Amino acid sequence: MRRWNGWGEESVLYPLPPSAKDYLETQIGAGLSLPDASLEETLASVPDSRLPDHALISNLSMDRLLHARGQSLPDWIALRSGRIGQFPDGVAYPICKDNLKTLLDFSRQTGTRLIPYGGGTSVVGHINPLPGTAPILTVDLSRMNHLVELDETSHLATFEAGISGPDIEMLLQGKGFTLGHYPQSFEYSTLGGWVATRSSGQQSYHYGRIENLFAGGVLETFLGELEMPVHPASAAGPDLKQVILGSEGRFGILTQATVRIQRLPETETFQAAFFHDWETGSDAVREIAQAGVPVSMLRLSNALETDTTLALSGKDALVLLARRALGWIQYDDQRCLLIFGLTGSRSLVRYAYRQAARIIRTHGGLPTGTLIGRMWRKSRFLSPYLRNTLWEQGYALDTLETALPWSGIPHCAHEVLTSLRNGLAESGESVLAFAHLSHVYKDGAGLYVTYLYRRAEDPDETLRRWWILKSAASQVILQRHGTISHQHGVGYDHAGYLASEKGAPGMDILTTLRDLLDPQGLLNPGKLLPDEY
Ligand SMILES: Cc1cc2nc3c(=O)[nH]c(=O)nc-3n(C[C@H](O)[C@H](O)[C@H](O)COP(=O)(O)OP(=O)(O)OC[C@H]3O[C@@H](n4cnc5c(N)ncnc54)[C@H](O)[C@@H]3O)c2cc1C
Repeated sequence: MRRWNGWGEESVLYPLPPSAKDYLETQIGAGLSLPDASLEETLASVPDSRLPDHALISNLSMDRLLHARGQSLPDWIALRSGRIGQFPDGVAYPICKDNLKTLLDFSRQTGTRLIPYGGGTSVVGHINPLPGTAPILTVDLSRMNHLVELDETSHLATFEAGISGPDIEMLLQGKGFTLGHYPQSFEYSTLGGWVATRSSGQQSYHYGRIENLFAGGVLETFLGELEMPVHPASAAGPDLKQVILGSEGRFGILTQATVRIQRLPETETFQAAFFHDWETGSDAVREIAQAGVPVSMLRLSNALETDTTLALSGKDALVLLARRALGWIQYDDQRCLLIFGLTGSRSLVRYAYRQAARIIRTHGGLPTGTLIGRMWRKSRFLSPYLRNTLWEQGYALDTLETALPWSGIPHCAHEVLTSLRNGLAESGESVLAFAHLSHVYKDGAGLYVTYLYRRAEDPDETLRRWWILKSAASQVILQRHGTISHQHGVGYDHAGYLASEKGAPGMDILTTLRDLLDPQGLLNPGKLLPDEY
C-alpha cells in the first residue's frame, strides 16, 4: 500500500547504516526524532464536504486526505504534522470522457473548482487545494489508464492520460517497445502529469523530454474538446501542443495522449568515471554533449554530492576501499562522480563508450566500469525512499533545479549552494547542500540541487526554514538568468517567479488563454499563473 504521508510503498524501507548517521551528525548536527501525527488524528481533522451528493464523487475522508497534498517539502511537513489546511471537498475517479464532460458541466453549474490529478507526485504544490469559499473537487485520472492504440509501423502509442509509468512500460515492453520516459517518480507519475508539467526523464538525453515524445492528444475544456492531431512535423501555424505542455491543469484536462515510442534497445549499460574536480568533469560532459556522442544519460555530481552519495550508500567496506584507492591516485577530496548511460545496439554502445571514455580521459577522468553504474540503476527509483528514513531521523530533505547555458553554470551553482549553506545562519543551523548536472544539452545543462537541514520541534519552524532556503536559492536562480524550473514545473511554489521569466507580454498571453479556456476561473486556480486567491 502507498504511504499516505511519505514516499512510496509502505513495505519498502531504506535503512541508514550507523556510519551514515554519523556523517550527517558531523555535517549538520544530530537530528531530532519527533513523532508524526497519526492517520486517525489526521482523518479526524477532515471537515464536512461542501459538495452536494453526486454519483461520480466520493466525499470519504480517506479519499480527501489522500488527495490533499503532493510530495513537496511543505506537503510533507503538513502531512507529517497533521496540519493539512485545505482538503478537497470530494474526489472523482472518471473512467471515460463522458464522465469528464459531466464533471466539467457540474463544475460550471455549481462553481466548483476542479483540480486535475495524475499520480500526485508534484513537488511544487500543483495539486494542493487552496483556501477559498468555492467547493473543490479533485479529479483523479488514475482509472483512465488504457492503451487506446499501438501503431507499430509509425512507432506511436496512444494511451488514456491517467496511465502510470510502470503500466506504460509493461504494455509497451510486452510488444517489444519502450517510451523510455523515466522520471525518478516513475512508480506513480502519469502520462497526463508528465505532459502537464513538461517532465524530463533520467534518460531524456536519448529518448527526449516529454515535449519531444508527446505527438498529439485530446484536451477536454470548458470550450469543448481540443484535438491535437498527430503529425511527424507541421508548419500549420503555432503548435498548440506546446501551449498544452506545461499548462498544469489550467487550460483543460488531458484525456488521451499519443507518444513517440522506440523498439527496445538491444543493450543498455551504466558506467561510472571519476574526475579530479567539478570543473574538469563539467568540461568533459559538455564536450561529450557538444560532440554529439550518442550516450543516453550524463549525470555529474559535485564533490560534496559524490562524498555524500558514498557515505549514505550503506556499503561501508566498499566505500572505504574506493576512497583509499582513489586517494592513492590523486582523486582526493574534490573528486566528482560521473554516471553515464549507453543505450542501443551493441555496436552503437561500443562506439559511444569509446568516444565518451576518450573525452573523459582527455580531461583527466578515470572510467571505472559498470559496478557503480549497476548500483545506481538498482536504486534509481529507490533513492526517494531515503527521504522517509531521513525525516524519521530528524532531517528535512528538499531538492530544487534550474537550467541555464554552460557559461552561466559555475557561478549559478556556486551562488545557489552558498545561499543554501548560509541560509539558516541566523538560527545557528547548518545546511548540507550539494548538486549535480542532471540533464545535459549542447548549449547548457540542468542543475539539480539537494539540501538537508534539521527539523525543528515546531513544524511551523521547519516550514519557515524551508521558506527561507527556497526563497534565497530561487532569487539567485533568477538573478543568474536560470529558469525557475527545468523539470518540476511551476505549481504553487514557483508561481510568484514566473513573471520575471515570461515578462509582461508573456504573462498577458498566458492569462488571456486561461480566461478564454476557463472564464469562471475554475480549473486549478492559484497554480502556474498567480491569480486572485
Ligand atoms: C521522488 C520524486 C522524484 C521526481 N523526479 C522527477 C523527475 O525525474 N523528472 C520530472 O520531470 N519530475 C520529477 N518529479 C516531479 C513529478 O513527478 C512530475 O512533475 C510529474 O510529471 C507529475 O506527474 P503526476 O502524474 O504525479 O502529476 P500530479 O502531481 O498529479 O499533477 C501535476 C500537475 O499536472 C496536472 N495534471 C495531471 N494530470 C493531468 C491531466 N490528465 N490533464 C491536465 N492536467 C493534469 C495537475 O493538475 C497538476 O497541475 C519527481 C517527484 C518526486 C516526488
